[in-house]
Amino acid sequence: MYWKRHSHDDIKRIVFNALNENSSYDSTNILGLPGTYLDRETFYDDAPFLDDAPFLSTLIANPNHIGCHTLTEQDHEDVFKGTQNIEIDLIRMCAEEIFGGNSQGQDGYVASGGTEANIQALWIYRNYFMKEKNASVDDIAIVYSEDSHYSMPKGANLLNLASIVLSVEENTRKIKLDELSRKIKAAQINGIKHFIVVLNLSTTMFGSVDDISSITEYFVSEELSFKLHIDAAFGGFIYPFTNPENKFNFQNPHINSITIDGHKMLQSPYGTGIFLIRKGYMEYVCTNEAQYVPGKDYTLCGSRSGANAVAVWMILQIHGSEGWKLKMQLLNDKAERLCSKLDALNVFYFRNQHLNIIAIKSSFIPDALAKKYHLVSDSYEHTPKWYKIVIMPHVKQGTLDSFINELQTEINLKTQPCT
Ligand SMILES: *Cc1c(COP(=O)(O)O)cnc(C)c1O
Repeated sequence: MYWKRHSHDDIKRIVFNALNENSSYDSTNILGLPGTYLDRETFYDDAPFLDDAPFLSTLIANPNHIGCHTLTEQDHEDVFKGTQNIEIDLIRMCAEEIFGGNSQGQDGYVASGGTEANIQALWIYRNYFMKEKNASVDDIAIVYSEDSHYSMPKGANLLNLASIVLSVEENTRKIKLDELSRKIKAAQINGIKHFIVVLNLSTTMFGSVDDISSITEYFVSEELSFKLHIDAAFGGFIYPFTNPENKFNFQNPHINSITIDGHKMLQSPYGTGIFLIRKGYMEYVCTNEAQYVPGKDYTLCGSRSGANAVAVWMILQIHGSEGWKLKMQLLNDKAERLCSKLDALNVFYFRNQHLNIIAIKSSFIPDALAKKYHLVSDSYEHTPKWYKIVIMPHVKQGTLDSFINELQTEINLKTQPCT
């Protein structure tokens, strides 16, 4: 993985060139499109700071990135080909540099978020099994752990597919393999023939990473018909940078698609989920009826702002791969430091050593302390079993220190013998 760091001036030049390559609503004869620039009363385009602000300039020029641009050569007719080429470069960087894909081997697009990217994957594999294996919806199930994001049951509901939810061990958050085999066999007896398997490159609540080797090994050795999607919405922009041994990449022949979220670890604006998939699969969700979209539509969302792709691309370019790696390593070090303090206090927690989520057993955390520091619990309906801390870029060492001090005071109070 390597890409160069770029100066703000370089980036500005590239983005403004791309905007110039787009047809402008101002200076081109655009009569047929149902789109235009942002409202000029509110977002006037002669604000002097815009000359220095490539993202905001893209936002108000308002290019539409509808469709999937890695699929089709950008031709001269494309009204927004300049910024769409930036999106193509962004997908290439994510798929090839971060996730080890072969050159030109993947398609992808910037989705509204991880939810959409996950549902896009489920939709593609459902149609793939129906078309290629003659399956009906009743023959297909989605397999995921109980710690998976709720976009999985949401997608199962939308697509009319059954869910096979695997339980995890309480303290290690590991998928129970004996139960996996039992549940798959039971599903087969009920007529399920094809499995859409979703594994987490970090769950949202625990930062746990599913054991990809043993789970794919199971599906392969049982000769089951399956497709594997990786939900790296949380971990995708940190784990590959903190773990040099990362096995979640396109060099693994079983991994067919990956979701990553720019708007979590990468600090891009909301609306920057990223969907990556091997070439040859986007076609299963082509909407032929989308006749007015040049190149047709292969995405769940339809119209979407080109500024989102530009934002993610700019962040990756400003830092370069080495800069981003350092930034993620520093966050991870901060998580490590908190963990050694928790160890010293004998507080039980779960953490994957390459991730910045620390889930603490709720019995160690007084409710008032959890409230004061806005810790997130595993459930708002039941009594919480865990509270998590996520070491995001805004989390200050001083705040962590105060939290630990208060926790220590509480623990001392509890363990002091009554006199
Ligand atoms: C946040 C998250 C999602 C959903 O992402 P949105 O961007 O909120 O739609 C999916 N999976 C995981 C693991 C997540 O952390």
